[in-house]
Amino acid sequence: MITKRGVVILAYAWVCTGIGRPSAENALKDAFLHQGPKIENSLELGKLVLYFSDSADFTLLPLTEAPSAHKSQKSYFFPQTKVLGSEVLKTIDRISRVRTAWYSVQIAVVQKPIEGVRVTITYDPEKIEVADQFFDSIQLNKAVEVIFYNKELKKKLITGAQVPLLRRAANEKKKYGVIVDCGHGGKDTGAVGYGQLQEKEVALSVGLRLAQLLEHQGITVFLTRDRDTAVPIDIRTSFANSVADEADLLVSIHANMAKNEAARGVETFCLERSLFFPLADEPDKKFAQCVSRLLDDRYMNSKLLAQQVQNNVLSCTQKKNGATCDRQVKQAVAQILLGTQLPAALVEVGFLSNKHEALLLRTKSYQQALANGICNGILAYLREIA
Ligand SMILES: [Zn+2]
Repeated sequence: MITKRGVVILAYAWVCTGIGRPSAENALKDAFLHQGPKIENSLELGKLVLYFSDSADFTLLPLTEAPSAHKSQKSYFFPQTKVLGSEVLKTIDRISRVRTAWYSVQIAVVQKPIEGVRVTITYDPEKIEVADQFFDSIQLNKAVEVIFYNKELKKKLITGAQVPLLRRAANEKKKYGVIVDCGHGGKDTGAVGYGQLQEKEVALSVGLRLAQLLEHQGITVFLTRDRDTAVPIDIRTSFANSVADEADLLVSIHANMAKNEAARGVETFCLERSLFFPLADEPDKKFAQCVSRLLDDRYMNSKLLAQQVQNNVLSCTQKKNGATCDRQVKQAVAQILLGTQLPAALVEVGFLSNKHEALLLRTKSYQQALANGICNGILAYLREIA
């Protein structure tokens, strides 16, 4: 993997000389703006994520016009890059219209001096520090993530002040809270499997059953959707982050699809540090260490949660589905996990493409067994971290 510095120099040479392929082959395939919790003790106040077909290499553009006294700008240029499809154009337009008190993002397709995508971040330098890193997504697209750090909190972390992060650390909790994310919905059906069974139906039914079980346990439940409606991932994560000080974790429910009709079983995903390239340019070692420590805590808890969900879903469904198999906990970047600032896991409850599992997945009793398993997993996790 080439280093970021190498990338910047190479891309800058392109811009200066205008040398390059005649038309763009790289494509911006998707974009997300995750707004962070609206609370002072959150380190990440927002996160922009851009996915590319081939390359996420960029150059930083010199700024021509000085922004106002209370604003700074940082401008990224992705050379030889086009925008793929009208949906992505709509998405970047929507992102460019989001206004928060501390930052805004402008994404534009430009033709000169070479074709590319320009991303300009305008932010309050008193409040925000902008950092970026690369990762490879689950579909192996190249991605770049621009993080808006809370500068005041950064200063406190560096000086070693004891800063309570989210409510759990502040020890003010009275009641547990769980965010249940039923995957897909509305015109986004998710996968469609054997017998035309749709992923969105399975996810919603299992999620609503799970919500009921958790509420019986005295846990506050936040649903990202409670009916058959399309909710963009950005909106789901903004919602999740807006209730982050009342919630302890997020579980996202999905069902799998594979070309191989024999594929079956349960798998659960969570994030892990090795998926991301480190903040190589972070000049402040102490801050980098603080960020590492906070992320390690979140990843460690996410892994615990994922493992408990995986184990308990398997044990609750084994009687009904003797053919199920343990596809284990895996580490991968799923967008809902990336945009959430709580410990989070994504469970794929079975394969819609497998006839045997699809026939089970459409029954109420199997959906209930799945919900029982996820609920038991969450309870086991909460006991473990208590
Ligand atoms: Zn899905």
